[in-house]
Amino acid sequence: MNHKAVRAILQAQLDELLIRAQEIEGALCPPGSRDWEENAIESEDDEVLTSVSDTTRGEIAEVQLAIHLIDTGRYGKCTICHTAILPERLAAIPYATRCMDCV
Ligand SMILES: [Zn+2]
Repeated sequence: MNHKAVRAILQAQLDELLIRAQEIEGALCPPGSRDWEENAIESEDDEVLTSVSDTTRGEIAEVQLAIHLIDTGRYGKCTICHTAILPERLAAIPYATRCMDCV
């Protein structure tokens, strides 16, 4: 797969992640909007949502980095040890920016 095609896939993935992040953030309740008993239950839910949101944010950063690497001609190389990332690995995880040894 050429880098242009990979970039298109990553861009689509990024758009999806940004929408997901927005949805998660929209689902988070503003604090102090309920009495405390309800709030205690709500904030438990919020904690789950926050961790989902963190995961999504991490993925967004990974995908953004991969797009940046394509744009700067460094895609396909490990950002840690600079050896080429296996094509099989890139096929499975297009936004992989580290080789198997540096994960
Ligand atoms: Zn490496």
